[in-house]
Amino acid sequence: MKTIIVGGGIMGLAAAWGLSREGHAVELLEQGALPNPLASSVDEHRLIRHPYGDRQGYARMIDPAFEAWDMLWRDLGQTLYAPTGTLALTGNGNDWAERSARTLAAIGRPMTELTIDELRQRFPQLDARGVERAFWMDSGGVLFAQDIVAALSRHLQSRPDVALHPHTAVRSVDLEHGRVVTASGASYEADSVIVAAGAWVGRLVPEVERTLVPSRQVVIYFRLPQEQRAAWAKGPMVIQKTGDVGLYFVPPMQGRGFKVGDHSFSRSGDPDAGREASEDEIRPLIERCRGLFRGFDGWRTDRVKACFYTVTEDERFVVDKAGAKGWVMSACSGHGFKFGALMGLELARTIAANRDPTAHARWAAGLESDIHAPLPRQGVESKTKTSVGRGSG
Ligand SMILES: Cc1cc2nc3c(=O)[nH]c(=O)nc-3n(C[C@H](O)[C@H](O)[C@H](O)COP(=O)(O)OP(=O)(O)OC[C@H]3O[C@@H](n4cnc5c(N)ncnc54)[C@H](O)[C@@H]3O)c2cc1C
Repeated sequence: MKTIIVGGGIMGLAAAWGLSREGHAVELLEQGALPNPLASSVDEHRLIRHPYGDRQGYARMIDPAFEAWDMLWRDLGQTLYAPTGTLALTGNGNDWAERSARTLAAIGRPMTELTIDELRQRFPQLDARGVERAFWMDSGGVLFAQDIVAALSRHLQSRPDVALHPHTAVRSVDLEHGRVVTASGASYEADSVIVAAGAWVGRLVPEVERTLVPSRQVVIYFRLPQEQRAAWAKGPMVIQKTGDVGLYFVPPMQGRGFKVGDHSFSRSGDPDAGREASEDEIRPLIERCRGLFRGFDGWRTDRVKACFYTVTEDERFVVDKAGAKGWVMSACSGHGFKFGALMGLELARTIAANRDPTAHARWAAGLESDIHAPLPRQGVESKTKTSVGRGSG
């Protein structure tokens, strides 16, 4: 069996890895270089953490996600991950951390609540003003995203059943018949086609244009003062919900940068437009950082990066069958990278073993803990929808 994959971000590459492990042939077409610096997957780091608000489906998926990464590290011969632990802070009426702790307790993965004094003692680098409750978990850490994408591309290049085609933009896809045509007019045919085109997906599959919305996001890398570097180099990862929007801080593990981003969706922007961030995009994030870190006035901006989320209304992933031979694979909404290896392995299994695509879509949307689970009774989906909590990263 042969599959064509459009897109060489983490989703497309992981699907290629999964299919190749299942013994199937793959042709992967990527419009840019591999890795493409404009892809959502290509940044120094992405976080993986258990707390997920009320979303038990995604919280349950974290342990299998770690197992999938471990399988990838074995195939790559290197581990591109650093553990940091997860610190979730709330205040200002937000209860995301409390809801996360409740959800995790229910699935046997409890978080530990810290008093504000304990928080100050344990993490003196944080300014705890505005924090009402703090929860800690030993699990969680930093995936070295762009290094993973680069290493996975190299690994796939060495597989005889995988052909990677960088600098090959796809112009159109025919998901009914399993055909794609490139910008230069070359056509490819296969038993199945996976469109994993990130923020560009709506251009190839107009049916999802309104569901999967490109969302330009700005992140800031900071240069820490010398005296603060050692403390932050040990972590933690912080999910902070004490202001008007959720923020996340990525510690500078193994020599990478210290990064801050927010989880407020712009729901706008063109992924092909210039990626220079404007003062208007940077200023609100800087302002939000003030009062969160000790000695922030001594921090300097090192660099700013504009990247794209591809967001759904309720932050679920879309991994759906489309046409007789096609799949749309979009696991983003700002929190998909952590599931990249798992999403790739599972989609490969569904295609290879002809598993139920509806069960697969529900699992990817965080609504089922198992792809083989029987389809739920009517009404379960909308009930879950009303209790959605917004996460970060
Ligand atoms: C700022 C930011 C912070 C994030 N933080 C986290 C986090 O902490 N934890 C987490 O789990 N997730 C996080 N995410 C989300 C995560 O990065 C994404 O879910 C994931 O990278 C999506 O991967 P992808 O393969 O779907 O898309 P992409 O990486 O964008 O890959 C799509 C690829 O398709 C190619 N392509 C598009 N159109 C065509 C075409 N016509 N022909 C050929 N190729 C094409 C593109 O060039 C691109 O390389 C974050 C995202 C951003 C932007």
